[in-house]
Amino acid sequence: MIELGEILLSNDDNFFLLKGLSSSKINEIKEVINLANDFCSKVVIPRVHKYEIQIDKNPDFLPSDFIHEANRWQLFSKWLPKAFGGGGFSPLSMHFFNEILASHCMAMTNMIGVHYVGLTALSASMNYKMLQNVCKKIKAGEKKSTPHTLSIAVTEPEAGTDLEDHKLLKNAKVGCTLIKSDGGYTLNGTKIFISNGHLSHWSIVTAFLDKNSPHTSQVSVLVSKDSPGFSHGKIERKLGQKSCTASELIFDNVFISADNVIFSKDHCPANLDFEETAKTFTADVLNLSRTGVGSIATGISKSALDLSLKYCREQKINGVLMGQIEWVQIKLAKMHNNIYLSRNITFDSLLANDYWGPFKEMSAPVTSFFMKKVER
Ligand SMILES: Cc1cc2nc3c(=O)[nH]c(=O)nc-3n(C[C@H](O)[C@H](O)[C@H](O)COP(=O)(O)OP(=O)(O)OC[C@H]3O[C@@H](n4cnc5c(N)ncnc54)[C@H](O)[C@@H]3O)c2cc1C
Repeated sequence: MIELGEILLSNDDNFFLLKGLSSSKINEIKEVINLANDFCSKVVIPRVHKYEIQIDKNPDFLPSDFIHEANRWQLFSKWLPKAFGGGGFSPLSMHFFNEILASHCMAMTNMIGVHYVGLTALSASMNYKMLQNVCKKIKAGEKKSTPHTLSIAVTEPEAGTDLEDHKLLKNAKVGCTLIKSDGGYTLNGTKIFISNGHLSHWSIVTAFLDKNSPHTSQVSVLVSKDSPGFSHGKIERKLGQKSCTASELIFDNVFISADNVIFSKDHCPANLDFEETAKTFTADVLNLSRTGVGSIATGISKSALDLSLKYCREQKINGVLMGQIEWVQIKLAKMHNNIYLSRNITFDSLLANDYWGPFKEMSAPVTSFFMKKVER
């Protein structure tokens, strides 16, 4: 199979996905493909089996050195807008980065990806002051070798899908609560399955002012790992993507200053319906994060095809090489088609996100932000 990078770098015109994109976007994508290949050969590939063995021996092993390396390569700021000190890359080019990385290691791809889901939540919240503060700290953390990454904490022991689907939220059995206190809130509760929870500097936590009315009392807050009352719980024992920890996060009377509230009823302009705005906020975050999942899935399936091809070139059935048998060839061709289909669907959804999604809003004047949401 032809490598994704080869097609792009050899003949742009043949690469139908990129038709219609500006030359600056195409150049950015080429730069990102080179970056991803370089990062894979120097950082990802040497760690894949090393981590497998280490986590097999000690399931609580934390691959902090990978986060430090990614930080050193400025990967936690490359896809931040230039206005906030970042590299100014777009979510479109992140698709190529994710696909290439995931074809070598899904867990490490996710360790970078969840940070950007957190940034998407910040940008979708319209809280530009906080976004700017966080971005400044991410950049400063690159210089000082202290990674400032984000995780996103929604899932709770007794609430999963219902927290992500606004139709179900009304009846969700929520456990993470906020009580108003002097200058902010007090946060209590537990989150589970949080990707990178043990490794991230901050978590974006969804909690509720009224347990009996979660759909009308949702609040998102930024919690630093150093906050008094915050602690890490257990690390899940996973079947796959083991180096991307799925963490339990425990909040025991954690004080959240008003400055660290990302999204709440108080942040919603009086002329807008809070429930509708909260729904859009969740949809923005999920929409963009799901395209990342699509890119990663494409990368994994490409790897599966490469391994199958290798196997079929070496193994024989009744003395005939598998690759020369018609039914095997049909199966391989189907795998190949599915990869292109998957890449196409993911790319289409990214284009839609690029056009309507939260990152688009970040480059537009802040005043037009709500207007566009209302038009939608
Ligand atoms: C590896 C991994 C990483 C994760 N990372 C994060 C993270 O970083 N941050 C985070 O917040 N969460 C994270 N999650 C949690 C993930 O988002 C949840 O697992 C997901 O939302 C599903 O929730 P649940 O597991 O509680 O399943 P449930 O919500 O209990 O659902 C179980 C099943 O029941 C079905 N179901 C649920 N409700 C209904 C209904 N009302 N009617 C009909 N069917 C229904 C679902 O479709 C599903 O098949 C992660 C999970 C995993 C496995």
